[in-house]
Amino acid sequence: MNILVTGGAGYIGTHTCVALLKAGHQVVVVDDFSNSCPEAMQRVETICQQSIPFYQGDVGDKALLEKIFSENHFDGVIHFAGAKAVGESVAKPLYYYRNNVTASQTLLEVMATFDVSSLVFSSSATVYGDPHAVPILEDFPLAPTNPYGRSKLMVEQIMQDQAQADKRFNGIILRYFNPVGAHESGLIGEDPNGIPNNLMPFISQVAVGKRAQLTIFGNDYPTRDGTGVRDYIHVCDLAEGHVQALEKLHDQQGCHVLNLGTGNGVSVLEMVAAYADASHQPIPYVFAERRPGDVAQCYADASQAKQILGWQATRGLPEMVADSWHWQSGNPNG
Ligand code: NAD
Ligand code: UDP
Repeated sequence: MNILVTGGAGYIGTHTCVALLKAGHQVVVVDDFSNSCPEAMQRVETICQQSIPFYQGDVGDKALLEKIFSENHFDGVIHFAGAKAVGESVAKPLYYYRNNVTASQTLLEVMATFDVSSLVFSSSATVYGDPHAVPILEDFPLAPTNPYGRSKLMVEQIMQDQAQADKRFNGIILRYFNPVGAHESGLIGEDPNGIPNNLMPFISQVAVGKRAQLTIFGNDYPTRDGTGVRDYIHVCDLAEGHVQALEKLHDQQGCHVLNLGTGNGVSVLEMVAAYADASHQPIPYVFAERRPGDVAQCYADASQAKQILGWQATRGLPEMVADSWHWQSGNPNG
């Protein structure tokens, strides 16, 4: 298949381009480099030993999308492009609704004009808000607590409505849990701007000596060691989940929703211990107050993805931290 990958220069996008090419598909990428750089695409080309057609620009730019769709024939689109920082979304909600919601609507309009009916969308476990129980099933109530999460849920709803209206439309909504790790080559990985918000890149930067210590937000949660529990998933497993979703569901009309997680919860302290083991570096930490908006535990019931796609995560925590360290130590400045 020939797949348009929006946001293909980003963290999950680069790994998915590698997985798609490895599986024998072709990709065309559009990215505005608002949270990535041209070097990332060059590295994907190095890993895959082939050049990748690329368009630089904003997915919300309808004229650009029409140009891309008129110059290529696509069998489907994987839509990663979007902004993803929860705190920033609270400060700049209008930017999040434009970049994440309006741009997705523009993409759907251009897809309809050019008769491309298969869309895989990057949603997030954030749409569940504070879950009433774990593990989280796809039919749990949806109650995001910030503009980022609401922007994801709005696009999910737009896709559901489009599937009702257009019987050819095939939508796949993938709700990711916590993607971590990097490609085994060490050439691509997560490269956040500024001070990382997320746990794994923060720990990596402590291990490599860029930051003095980790602040652990809360040690009084009702979890096995008092720290927050999340479902960390290796980014290469996640990337392979996209390929399998496309291959399995490409010609099935409707809108399918799947959790992509491992089904295992890992606490902050367990992650710190695993990272120290893999990197042979000390990870100093201090405990602080809980971070506003955080939930105690969040992990997936990943059985639907296994049942429907035959997909399940195969890489465990040791591989996630080892690959993250390989990337971070080889690229201390991203
Ligand atoms: P990322 O920021 O590394 O990648 C997103 C890419 O999209 C970047 O290369 C950025 O430059 C590009 N981009 C942003 N807005 C654009 C626009 N309007 N037009 C063109 N390009 C644009 O993020 P990621 O971690 O790879 O996440 C990919 C998707 O997965 C995002 O939609 C994100 O919300 C979603 N997601 C990520 C996580 C996570 O923890 N990483 C979890 C759940 C969902
Ligand atoms: N966390 C932490 N220190 C940090 C960043 C995160 O203790 O500097 C904790 C956070 O409170 C949560 C877990 O690590 O319990 C995962 O946080 P992250 O931001 O990576 O993912 P999310 O909360 O979005 O699932």
